[in-house]
Amino acid sequence: MASIFSKIIAGEIPSYKVAEDEHHFAFLDINPIAKGHVLVVPKHETDYLFDLDDALLSSLTVFSKRVAKAIEKSVPCQRIGVAVVGLEVPHAHIHLIPINGVYDVDFNRPKLALPAEEMQEIAATIAENL
Ligand code: 5GP
Repeated sequence: MASIFSKIIAGEIPSYKVAEDEHHFAFLDINPIAKGHVLVVPKHETDYLFDLDDALLSSLTVFSKRVAKAIEKSVPCQRIGVAVVGLEVPHAHIHLIPINGVYDVDFNRPKLALPAEEMQEIAATIAENL
């Protein structure tokens, strides 16, 4: 069965998309731990990030860099933190999280509940800054 992220990539489930190319896709995390929390995924569905072939892992990293630079321009923060967890969704993904300190990369924190309009605005701003 297709992962929830494959369904998002296919447009079967809505998302706040920020970037896409032939092999990669980026969208806002639906339960962000910070404003501008983005997930970057390969379109090819593989559960574990380190099972991706070298070329795709490399290109996903370069694509993430491009998205991270755009987030930096869009959300006030010191830098973009990077996390890989993958315990919830079995489709490899990289979390890009605007941070001001190490405490901002805490997945146990209560998630932000942002209105749809604000999520849309954040996604559009990041997309514009690519
Ligand atoms: P992980 O697999 O890295 O532990 O966590 C998966 C992440 O995907 C979580 O931060 C969760 O909020 C996010 N997530 C799960 N389902 C959806 C979804 O349907 N849409 C979006 N945009 N994010 C999701």
